Amino acid sequence: TIYLDHQATTPMDPAVAEAMHTAATECFANPSSPHAAGIRAFREVERARGTVARFLGAARSEIYFTSGATEGNNLAVKGVVGTGSGAPVRHVVTTAVEHKSVLDTCRSLRAGGHEVTVLPVDAEGRVDPARVAAALRPETALVSVMLANNEVSTIQPVARIAELTRAAGVPLHCDATQGVGTLPVDVRELGVDLLTFSGHKIYGPKGIGVLYVSNALSDEAPLVPLLHGGGQERGLRAGTLNTAAVIGLGRAVELLAAGREREAGRLAALRGRFLAELAGLVPYTLNSGTGVGFLPQAVNLSFEGADAQQLLLEVTAVAVSSGSACNSSAQEPSHVLTAIGLPPERIRGSIRVGFGRFTTEEQAVRAAHALAAGVLAAQPVRTA
Ligand code: PLP
Repeated sequence: TIYLDHQATTPMDPAVAEAMHTAATECFANPSSPHAAGIRAFREVERARGTVARFLGAARSEIYFTSGATEGNNLAVKGVVGTGSGAPVRHVVTTAVEHKSVLDTCRSLRAGGHEVTVLPVDAEGRVDPARVAAALRPETALVSVMLANNEVSTIQPVARIAELTRAAGVPLHCDATQGVGTLPVDVRELGVDLLTFSGHKIYGPKGIGVLYVSNALSDEAPLVPLLHGGGQERGLRAGTLNTAAVIGLGRAVELLAAGREREAGRLAALRGRFLAELAGLVPYTLNSGTGVGFLPQAVNLSFEGADAQQLLLEVTAVAVSSGSACNSSAQEPSHVLTAIGLPPERIRGSIRVGFGRFTTEEQAVRAAHALAAGVLAAQPVRTA
């Protein structure tokens, strides 16, 4: 199978697997233990933390390891708002195209009596910073805007939004899960106070992620933890650290940092080659942009009249995803494609194709042929 679903997850880089194997066998002690073996594990964890901190332009003390972006997003949003009983009613601003781990967290806050503004986006999936500014209120506790969208690749104007939230004294959280792989992510340049990402979208392990919280924010208004216990991660995230996964994530970040810009260019070229090949085989409509303002490695497109879910089942030679079911079990149309105004027909026929580190040009071309053949085979035979 040609794997072109790198927005869902990426294959682990062999160098990461190797680092994790060594870590799991030789670095198994509890990094909180004060004996020599524990200290060794602690040092390795802190080395990984340093790598992540440098990668984000942050301080080591601003990096917290979580189980992934879902937990990071939950912790950022609930941690800032505070969900204890008797807490004052707070307000959160977010966008209609966020990942469910942000949107559903906001919904849960709403159920707890807090207020949430979900901002619309334009036809490209971009939120207008002026709308963010206009939504701010005296009781606004947080703004959460993603760096780049997982379905339509739109890059949000995070730095511009940060100028406005900063002026208003409101913390800004950014889910950078889809952006870190190909975009420069410097927390100071972006101006964000909190930022999340996951290991498995950058050729690292699953079940590990990063939450950046600026020391300025921690000092002013410490986040409320979701997990209480042994006080790990400076009390913000209790639980024995997954040492091997932390070390694997550190290795994944090292590999990423070494060649991100060049790789971004290569991926954009692969995508261009795929689209050009496909254009000669079967008609399609783009649902995402392929220029400035969009991630270079993915594209969302629709085949007219097609049922993408059926197509994915039939074209077994290629692994892509459909826009009609973005969640594991949900059969509802993608909230992102709906938010950018696509009609249900177009959503039904939509697929997302995402290129990655190990994709070759030959694979991109073969995938275009396999998908086109699947689309044409599914079309009803026209009678004269
Ligand atoms: N945020 C975005 C933008 C994502 O694409 C994903 C992954 O699907 C997540 C958050 C959740 O990541 P994880 O499943 O690793 O918790």
